[in-house]
Amino acid sequence: MTAQIIDGKVFAATVREKVAGHVARLRDDHGLTPGLAVVLVGEDPASQVYVRSKGKQTVEVGMASFEHTLDAATPQAELLALIQRLNADPAVHGILVQLPLPGHIDEELVINAIDPAKDVDGFHILNVGRLSTGQKSMVPCTPLGCLMMLRDHLGSLSGLNAVVIGRSNIVGKPMAQLLLRESCTVTIAHSRTKDIADVVRRADIVVAAVGRTQMVPGDWIKPGATVIDVGINRIDAPEKGEGKTRLVGDVDFDSAVQVAGAITPVPGGVGPMTIACLLANTVTACCRANGLPEPE
Ligand code: NDP
Repeated sequence: MTAQIIDGKVFAATVREKVAGHVARLRDDHGLTPGLAVVLVGEDPASQVYVRSKGKQTVEVGMASFEHTLDAATPQAELLALIQRLNADPAVHGILVQLPLPGHIDEELVINAIDPAKDVDGFHILNVGRLSTGQKSMVPCTPLGCLMMLRDHLGSLSGLNAVVIGRSNIVGKPMAQLLLRESCTVTIAHSRTKDIADVVRRADIVVAAVGRTQMVPGDWIKPGATVIDVGINRIDAPEKGEGKTRLVGDVDFDSAVQVAGAITPVPGGVGPMTIACLLANTVTACCRANGLPEPE
């Protein structure tokens, strides 16, 4: 038997539809348009693609999109001044600074300069602290998307063994916090973990956020486990023609699909959910800023 494929594209479309409904109600009932500002510094091609995609989807759900593209050599002080302007702008409810930033800019300083109420990426230290202490916060978009798919597929996650592979601030750690909040028994594996295959084999839920091509083979997966593959790795694809590439995850899909109960594909799994959650977070920020009830 092969695993059920968790279709992130379809799921993300339903999330966007809900967001569009909330946006329409905010406009019709309260005269409000949620606004998302995305700041890109430099010309990283992958970042440019993400930013274009975010802007397009923001407009499609009826929100306002403010895109700020700065030269790679922009001084840090100039970026901080832009963030202060966006913090003060009542038309902007969400601010996202596309990472990574060029080397001369202090990423932490920039993230913590964003008003925590507008920090739709959930990376501000205050939101990180709130999430880990169980207070109302902005939840990072990628782990939030993973959690939504897990809940949709499994219902209650209470008591399940979850292994998160990767301990980054943007995926691994917040993912582990969210799973803990759902009463999972959570293990975080990383590059120094001993016997990682055995650790993963105990998991009912595996979230792989490593950035290593097809690192998790099927024989690491407990039969019937739910596997969420966050990794995005580009590999050569000579079968598609000379010089062509394709995207693969951190999980070896072909072997894992034979063992898992359910699995997200790459592409078409976590990726589309990330942007959908960004839009949802922007609506939440707009509601909070205006003292309105938040969408569920
Ligand atoms: P980071 O590079 O910041 O973190 C990678 C983590 O993997 C680290 O904690 C590292 O451990 C761990 N790791 C590295 N090698 C191994 C190994 N051999 N065994 C076990 N653990 C290992 O990556 P991110 O968290 O930012 O991203 C992870 C992946 O997710 C990337 O492919 C990225 O492109 C993708 N991604 C996808 C998104 C989406 O929307 N779908 C959004 C964000 C990221 P250590 O700490 O010990 O070094």
